[in-house]
Amino acid sequence: MAVRISLTQCPSCGSSSVFPALSAKDHTVTHEIFEIWHCDDCTNRFTQGMPDADSIGTYYQSASYVSHSDTQKGFINRLYHLVRNYTLGSKKKLVQKFSGKKSGSLLDVGAGTGSFANTMQEAGWEVTGLEPDNTARANAEQKYGLKLIPPGLLFELEEAQFDVITLWHVLEHVHDLHGYLARFQHLLKPGGRLLIAVPNYTSYDARYYKNCWAAYDVPRHLYHFSPKGMELLARKKSFVLENIQPMWFDSFYVSMLSEQYKNGSGNLIGALWTGMLSNLKAFLNKKKGSSVIYIFFKKPV
Ligand SMILES: [Zn+2]
Repeated sequence: MAVRISLTQCPSCGSSSVFPALSAKDHTVTHEIFEIWHCDDCTNRFTQGMPDADSIGTYYQSASYVSHSDTQKGFINRLYHLVRNYTLGSKKKLVQKFSGKKSGSLLDVGAGTGSFANTMQEAGWEVTGLEPDNTARANAEQKYGLKLIPPGLLFELEEAQFDVITLWHVLEHVHDLHGYLARFQHLLKPGGRLLIAVPNYTSYDARYYKNCWAAYDVPRHLYHFSPKGMELLARKKSFVLENIQPMWFDSFYVSMLSEQYKNGSGNLIGALWTGMLSNLKAFLNKKKGSSVIYIFFKKPV
C-alpha cells in the first residue's frame, strides 16, 4: 500500500499559501488521479499526496517509461533516441562552455543507462554517475563500462571535487529536494557549475494541454517548477542563476505524448504545431521553453 505525503506547505519555499490548481492522471502506469497544487509565493507546484520514497517504486514499473529503458520500439521511442544523440552533443557543449573547461570532473545525478555520462567520459571527463535503478546501473556498466553508484552514496562523496554537477530531468523526481541541493553546494569546487534541466509548466505547450500535459507526469514528478520558483529555490542554497537554455526538442516530444493523453490517439500535425508555437515563444523568451536548463554557479563565500 502506497504511503502518501499530504503537504500543507510548499515543499520548495515553505509557504502556506498553497492551493489545488488542477488534477492530472498517471497516464503511464496506474491511471490514478493526483492533484497538482500551486504555491502563491514562489509559484512552484507540487504533486499533492505524492507517494513517499519507499512507495514510489511501483509507479515506475512500466515498459513505456522511456527514460529508464533503451527500447527502440515505436515511432516516438525511435524519434526520442534519434534526438537524444543530438542533444547529448548539445549538453556536452553546454557543460564545456559554462564550466570553461574542455575536460574536468563531473557528477551526473540520475544517470539512467549512462548515455550522457558516457558522452562526457569519451570527451575526457572524469565522470561519477548516480542512479537508483539497479537494472539501469547494470546496463550502463555492460554497455559503456561505466561504474554508476546508488544515490545513497551522494552523501559519502568527497567534498569540493566536481567542476560540474548535472541533473537532466531528475530534480523533479527527488524526494529530498533541499538535502540534495545543499549537498551539491558542498560537492562543487569553488566556481563550479550546477546544470538542472526540468519541465516548465509556464511554457506554451503546458498551458495549451492543461492537465493532459505529459510533463506533469504524476506522481513520478513530485514538483513542477517555474523559472521564478527554481531561481528562488536555488538562491536559498547559495546558487546564482547564470543562464537559461530552452530544450527545443522537448516541446515536440511532450506535445506528441500530450496529444495521445488528450485524444487517446496520436495527432502528429497537432503536436508539431503546438511544439513549434511553444518554441517560437521560447525563442522570444528563454523562460518559456517547454523544458529548460538552468545554469547556476556556486556563490563565492
Ligand atoms: Zn513556494
